[in-house]
Amino acid sequence: MVHSISILGCTGSIGRQTAAVAEHTGIRVAALTANRKIDLLEQQARKFKPDFVAVYDEDAARAFKIAVADTPIRVGSGMEGLLEAATLPESDCVVTAVSGAVGLKPTLAAIDAKKRIALANKETLVCAGDLVMARAKERGAEIVPVDSEHSAIFQCLTGRGAGELKKILLTGSGGPFRGRRREELETITPEEAVRHPNWSMGAKISVDSSTLMNKGLEFVEAMHLFSVTPDDIQVVIHSQSVIHSMVELVDGTVIAQLGVPDMGLPIQLALTWPERKPSLFEHLDFWKLRDLSFEEPDLVNFPCLRLAMDCARRGGTAPCVMSAANEVAVHKFLRHQLGYNRIYDAAAEAVERVGVVAADDLDTILAADAAARVFVKEHF
Ligand code: MG
Repeated sequence: MVHSISILGCTGSIGRQTAAVAEHTGIRVAALTANRKIDLLEQQARKFKPDFVAVYDEDAARAFKIAVADTPIRVGSGMEGLLEAATLPESDCVVTAVSGAVGLKPTLAAIDAKKRIALANKETLVCAGDLVMARAKERGAEIVPVDSEHSAIFQCLTGRGAGELKKILLTGSGGPFRGRRREELETITPEEAVRHPNWSMGAKISVDSSTLMNKGLEFVEAMHLFSVTPDDIQVVIHSQSVIHSMVELVDGTVIAQLGVPDMGLPIQLALTWPERKPSLFEHLDFWKLRDLSFEEPDLVNFPCLRLAMDCARRGGTAPCVMSAANEVAVHKFLRHQLGYNRIYDAAAEAVERVGVVAADDLDTILAADAAARVFVKEHF
């Protein structure tokens, strides 16, 4: 179990839930970082009294520094600030809850500093999976996934020997538009897309869940995290989100992890692992559960998942380009500047037009990420 943490991206959905878990479990918060929501950041800073706070946006950092001038908290800014928070000697674990490629460098820095990584930033493994996993192995840094599916797989695989795994069964709810045809999705509004039936999440990931791009990103992540090939992962739509994922072993045994759909649970486990502590979350009530259903994912009407699986097979910078293009397209959609179905078009065209190269080093990856963003901004 960890004793003190740095929360990168503390004002987002995962960041706020991590702070709540830290409070409940008595884990000290040594550092916080945010982009520019300094009002909430100030509340958190006054409550948790961290040693260090970084604000990514320079103007917001100046305003924040003035706001907390009466406290002993040190304040940093920009990428330098994120890197300091990620490597702070006072922290033994870094929760990477920032969204986007901005999380990459701090995650690598935290690995180099041998921190436990409670991984919640999807782009880290989607864009730089080979690099990050190789570095973690080399430095002996632990990566404990926070995403509910990967946390489930991680738990199901604990204690299994090499060669025992047959395949990973990655479950997903199918999102709020499950069962609809692509033509019917043309007029979906941001307000409709962010209302997820089971999970409470930020706007970007809620849209990704509705297009199944989120499942696609998780597919790529699972491949890296558990050293398997795309053929070893089967996506199973399970609309109740009670089973958070499963593993099938070579003898045919299937091990599943179940729990209420609350992100607080995998967050807490990533911090207390390998121990378990009582939690404040609701427990499953099997008398209320009734039916658990399973179906195949609809790759025709939800082509983002198929695109992600294709990119996983292509490898190199393909998943990175797809993810960056998708991120820009989703933000445009959320601002009513792009139609719902155009999100897929933007991601798919970016992969074809930006091109795919080997993802050997961070500069190549960041360049591919930037090129994909420019492509979508200019063409969509
Ligand atoms: Mg998930």
